[in-house]
Amino acid sequence: MQITRRGFLTLSGAVGGGVALSGLVNLMPTRAYADELGKMNRIKAAKQVITTCCYCSVGCGLICSVDKATGKIFNIEGDADHPINEGSLCAKGAGLFDLTEANKHRLTKVLYRKPYGTEWEEKDWDFALSRIARLVKDTRDKGFVKRNAKGELVNRCETIGHYGSSNVDNEECWIMSAKSRALGLVYIDHQARV
Ligand code: SF4
Repeated sequence: MQITRRGFLTLSGAVGGGVALSGLVNLMPTRAYADELGKMNRIKAAKQVITTCCYCSVGCGLICSVDKATGKIFNIEGDADHPINEGSLCAKGAGLFDLTEANKHRLTKVLYRKPYGTEWEEKDWDFALSRIARLVKDTRDKGFVKRNAKGELVNRCETIGHYGSSNVDNEECWIMSAKSRALGLVYIDHQARV
C-alpha cells in the first residue's frame, strides 16, 4: 500500500495519541515525540508554500510551512510529490530552515577580530568593506604575477584564495566566481565540492 505524505501525517497523529497515553517511566522520549506530533499538527494546519531549492541545478522541491497567524515560516522540508527529489534533500537543502529568522544564532552583525586579537568587536559594513578592499588591493599589488617563469603572460594573483560558502545560491556563486577571476585569482573553490 502506498501512503501519501499527508496520509502519513494523519496516521502518525493517531499512533502518537496512543503512545502519549502509555508513557510510564521515562517520559522524555514521549515528550519529544509529543513535541514532534505537535509540530506535525501545526504543519497540517499551516499554509503550505511550494518552492525550489536555490542551491544547485538539481532543483529539489520544497514545502515551506507558514503559520497563518504570524505569516512566518516554521518548517521547511522536501516535497514528497516532487518528481526530482521525492521528498529527500541533501545536507545543504535540509539546512535551509536555519537561514530563516527563526534561527536565533544567525549572525546579523559584522564581527571583527584584530590580527592576534582574542576578542570579537562589532563593526559596521563600511568598516568591513573598506578593510576587505584595502587588503585585497595591497595583497594583489604585491602578489600579482604578470608572466610565469617561461615568460608567458598569465596575469594571475596567487596570494589570495576564494572559498565559497555553503549558503550561497547559483547566481551568487556565478558573481563570486566572475569577480574572483577578474582579480586574477586561481585558487577558487567552493564548499559544495568538499
Ligand atoms: S537540496 Fe541539495 S541537491 Fe537539492 S537542489 Fe538543494 S543543494 Fe541541490
